[in-house]
Amino acid sequence: MTRIVEPAILACPRCNYPMRRTRYASIHFYAATYWSDGYTSTISVAGNPDLGVCCSCESIFWVEDAEELGIMHREPESTQWPWWKRGLARFDEKATATLAKEKAWRAIPDQWHFAGQIEPPRARELLWALAQGVGDTPARERRLRQKIWWVGNHPDRGGYAIRDPMTPAQAHENRLALLELVRQDGETHKRHLTEAELLRQLGYFDEALAVLEHTLLIGNETAVLLAENARARETKVVKVGGWSELEGG
Ligand SMILES: [Zn+2]
Repeated sequence: MTRIVEPAILACPRCNYPMRRTRYASIHFYAATYWSDGYTSTISVAGNPDLGVCCSCESIFWVEDAEELGIMHREPESTQWPWWKRGLARFDEKATATLAKEKAWRAIPDQWHFAGQIEPPRARELLWALAQGVGDTPARERRLRQKIWWVGNHPDRGGYAIRDPMTPAQAHENRLALLELVRQDGETHKRHLTEAELLRQLGYFDEALAVLEHTLLIGNETAVLLAENARARETKVVKVGGWSELEGG
């Protein structure tokens, strides 16, 4: 079960405008589909975006850079209590605690009540973010370029009403730049599969096959599938049996 608790209020790193971020007590992913580019589709979309758009100044920021101002508490039941119940509250530990919650709730700045949800950037905004230097470290540039890569592959996944926001030249350039960043990763299954997949989608089939022959990928089902597609000179993203088990592998 995915369970949501009281949201947090975060400040936009640029203009300090308060925004609401959903907090989860637990997250459950239903019916995941894994794709050859490392993207996972789920029926129930849960979890918070790592990049957000400010609803006030429209800047795009990393949510981890946004200061948490506090928690948006729910209105406690005590606001409905009659005067005599409030008077008796001090004799009851639970009622005293409820009144303390009410005090905290009343201290919430008015602005927080109107705080909008942090929304993830749309496809086109990701390109804008890249151009604006939001990928300010190699790791962040990598995350941003990976998002752009995934968005560009969405039309080939079926069921996504998203058009590729990039021209073929932009998509090509992004894959090449991402390839350079991925090659800086350590020796893992995931790194080699991602490298091979980028090469395959770039149309460099022989190079993709050479990477897939890496000893780390011997007996790997995803590598076999990618090699089949590379030999068939296919460049589109494909479904794979699993990817998550390769995390950290
Ligand atoms: Zn802002």
